[in-house]
Amino acid sequence: MYDMFAEFDNFFNSFDVFPVYREVEKCPGCGRTYQDFRTTGKLGCAKCYQTFRNPVKKTLKQLHQNIEHTGKIPESGATELKKKKQYAELKAQLQKAVSEENYEQAAVLHRQLKALGNIE
Ligand SMILES: [Zn+2]
Repeated sequence: MYDMFAEFDNFFNSFDVFPVYREVEKCPGCGRTYQDFRTTGKLGCAKCYQTFRNPVKKTLKQLHQNIEHTGKIPESGATELKKKKQYAELKAQLQKAVSEENYEQAAVLHRQLKALGNIE
């Protein structure tokens, strides 16, 4: 299951990696500090982006690597499709196993189907 809130947690926690920007950098446009940005996650004006661009870019890159590392990615349509296909195949196998009175095999397949979830 894709945990979006944990993802945001990771995102904001990762700002801690760049403590040098916290106090020093201040946006010339709106006076927002990097700490403000870190706390709210929002940029105050267009100049903020330029001021905080480097740490943000680094953080986004790090976040991306973190996602790749932990495999915490939202399920894509392709994955969903693959899952449906897998489900259909398992269901066909299950029916075959039942018709052949291979209940041991059927139980295994049934467990696999359950693990995949209720996709019809
Ligand atoms: Zn600003």
